[in-house]
This record gives sequence, C-alpha cells and structure tokens, in this order.
Amino acid sequence: MSTIAQNLQAVASTIVSTAQEAGRAADSVRLLAVSKTFGAEAVLEAVRAGQRAFGENYLQESLDKIAAVRAALAARPDEPALAARPGEPALEWHFIGPIQSNKTRPIAEHFDWVHTVEREKIAQRLSEQRPAGMAPLNICLQVNISGEASKSGVAPAELAELARRVAALPNLRLRGLMAIPEPTEDYAEQRAAFAQLRQLYEQLRADGLALDTLSMGMSADLRAAVVEGATIVRVGSAIFGARHYPAAH
Ligand SMILES: *Cc1c(COP(=O)(O)O)cnc(C)c1O
Repeated sequence: MSTIAQNLQAVASTIVSTAQEAGRAADSVRLLAVSKTFGAEAVLEAVRAGQRAFGENYLQESLDKIAAVRAALAARPDEPALAARPGEPALEWHFIGPIQSNKTRPIAEHFDWVHTVEREKIAQRLSEQRPAGMAPLNICLQVNISGEASKSGVAPAELAELARRVAALPNLRLRGLMAIPEPTEDYAEQRAAFAQLRQLYEQLRADGLALDTLSMGMSADLRAAVVEGATIVRVGSAIFGARHYPAAH
C-alpha cells in the first residue's frame, strides 16, 4: 500500500473512532484531502485509495492540477481503481484559500465548493460568474472566531446579515460555516474554538437557514473538531506529508 493510502486509512480511522467516542455517526464526517503544493500524481494516488474530495488554496496551482488530473483520468480508462464508481460523484474540488475579487471567475467555473467566502461582494461575483448549466456552487462562510489575531473571516457580529444575503443569491447554495482557529496544542482550547463556530451555526439554523456543513479541523486539531460537530474536516499534511512551499506563493 502506498504511503498516501496508508495515511488516508489512518486519518479515516481516527475520524471513525473519534466520532464513535462522541456519539456521532461515523459517516457524518467527510474527509477533504487538502492537496495544495502536491502534484497531480499525489492526487491520483489518493483517488486510487478511494478519496474523491480535494481541497486547494492557490488558484493557478489548482487550475493546472485539476486539468492534469482530468487528463490523467481520461488517459487511463483501463485502470479500475481510477474509474468513477457507479452512483458516486466524480472528483469534487473545494477552494479553501483566500479569494481576490478579480480572481473569482475561474473559481466559479472550476470548483464545486468554496469554503472561504467572507464578503458579500465576492459571493455576488461567484453567483454571477457560475456558468449556466452547472449545479449551484456550494458555499461556506469563513468566520473569524479568534478575534484580532486573525485577519480572515467575517466577524461573528456580522455573520447573520452576510449569511442572509448570500443565501439569497441565485447560483450559490449556502451550506454552512468554516473557520481556521489560532493554532494551539491545547485540546481544551481547540474544542472551545470549534464550539464557538458550532454555536454560531446552530443559531443560524435556528433562525431558519437550511445549513448542513461545519467545515473545521485540520491535521493537528482533527479530533477536537470531530467531537465538536465538524461535518467536513480539511486534512493535508497527515495525508500527503509535510509541505514545501515553492517561493512563488
Ligand atoms: C492547508 C490547509 C489545511 C490543511 O492543513 P494541514 O495542517 O496540512 O492538515 C486545511 N484548511 C485550510 C484552509 C488550509 O489552508
């Protein structure tokens, strides 16, 4: 078994055992494999191991990779491990990086999900630029739950208004909330940050928004996120290994 396949299996088993400890259904948590800085071959290795959802941060890198993966899948129709399974979606691409407002079009055209919407203007552009005939773009609003320390995400006090406006846009489907808390090794602090996001999510649901997604938890705080109700965990280095950033980013 390849290293990536072994790592995927280990992460999946952590998710299952943690969900069970927390009294949650094991299949209530989806694993997003964050493949940023890793090439198409690493993605294909994960596909061979059964992984279908991938997260990317850097637009140009991701567009090149999506095209390369698609070409490789088309070029290898005889490899059963790479074939789409009956009743299963083909690969699903999630954009999880910062969004510049002049770069929304390729995101609207090439991704299935965007986790990092924090402004109405970006959401409007994604909605306008989503090609006719494609399914609505799935959206999570990124929330700044760490206050001053983080510059990304909508402030909790402004979340309800943003959510209401984004939910009304025609070519988007508002699915839920996402956060990247301040890194800490303290498990109780990890849980407290995720609990904050879950409370905001529950409040929006109580207000009538049909949300089903809490995107939270990465390699280092996966268990705390699952215990606090994550429905998508975004895991990179625990699957693909340590990242080496090219200077261009
Ligand atoms: C890179 C990244 C991840 C994955 O981080 P790991 O620590 O490698 O698991 C998850 N979410 C976002 C938004 C990221 O940028």
